[in-house]
Amino acid sequence: MIPLSKPILGREEERAVLEVLRSGKLSQGQKVEEFEKKFAKFIGSKYAVATSSGTTALHLCLLVLNIGPGDEVITTPFSFIASANVILYVGARPIFVDINPQTFNLNPRLIEKAITPKTKAILPVHLFGLPADMEKILYIAKEYKLFVIEDACQSHDAEVKMGAVWKKVGSIGDVGCFSFYPTKNMTTAEGGMVVTNKKEIAQKIKMLRNHGMRVRYQYEQLGYNFRMTEIQAAIGIEQLKKIAKFTHKRIQNAKILSKLLYGVQIPYVSDNTKHVFHQFTIKVPSTLRDKLSNELNKKGIATGIYYPKIITKYNIYRKHNSKNLFQAEKACKEVLSIPIHPQLSNSDLMKIAKIINTFIKNNS
Ligand SMILES: *Cc1c(COP(=O)(O)O)cnc(C)c1O
Repeated sequence: MIPLSKPILGREEERAVLEVLRSGKLSQGQKVEEFEKKFAKFIGSKYAVATSSGTTALHLCLLVLNIGPGDEVITTPFSFIASANVILYVGARPIFVDINPQTFNLNPRLIEKAITPKTKAILPVHLFGLPADMEKILYIAKEYKLFVIEDACQSHDAEVKMGAVWKKVGSIGDVGCFSFYPTKNMTTAEGGMVVTNKKEIAQKIKMLRNHGMRVRYQYEQLGYNFRMTEIQAAIGIEQLKKIAKFTHKRIQNAKILSKLLYGVQIPYVSDNTKHVFHQFTIKVPSTLRDKLSNELNKKGIATGIYYPKIITKYNIYRKHNSKNLFQAEKACKEVLSIPIHPQLSNSDLMKIAKIINTFIKNNS
């Protein structure tokens, strides 16, 4: 079976973990600090704060920006549930805005219409590794004095051209969040990171991550245990050395697949963005999607449907249903993610393309 994702862990990670185990220093310490410094440098942000997951990274961002009951946060209904759940965690109200069907990301033209006096922030997700339209989102945020919280959990190393300069996602809004879950473009098993250019935000997140303490046993406010361990950080430091290579291979694989495939809609790429292909998501007519998925599975190729339903269709979000999420709902019926990870060989890619092309030819 060709899997949909596969973490790439080598001798370097093994050695780094052993070193931590033998040191006996397991909880948040020097390795975490080193990982934070190196990650901040990689992203081009001044500060980085490691957390226990991408979800807790996002949760801390909403807390630090004082978003809570009575506030509204504009986000996408076409995402992993975590990007919306964090809005509920703090008691705020998620306002879902439809996507651009080409990019699968928030449609900025619809954001402005969703803004009310209660709106506090915009939470764009850089879905599948493709940056959201940050130039327009930042413009709107400035105009209406809103915070921008980037969910970059699927887009380590992705970039956007802002004016004349290329910026890594996560470094563009007020805060950016990453996940290091095993299926992501780099991993620490479980883990997350907040990046920001604002010192006060970084310091406060550090405090909230550790039970509201800056100084031991002085609890300044209600905090949490959202810490990363030294074991995770040691893996992260090694993964960070390899992420550029991983990204390069993902982009190469995407180029090859995009060239080989016909009869299906391939992922959108543009000159102003660096898509890092966390997923390679094609669009297939809804009548054929599940059949094609089964065909691939039968022939040993794993597939994924990200996402089978928009977030508002789940019971926990029934209260927050929005109308006019037509494009996101349509995407749920047409998307199919196929393997793109760096460990695929050229013959894997050719095999995948051949199955899809043959299926489309025989069914149209
Ligand atoms: C993975 C992911 C998260 C959450 O990350 P965890 O580390 O699994 O908590 C949040 N948002 C998006 C878009 C993700 O893909």
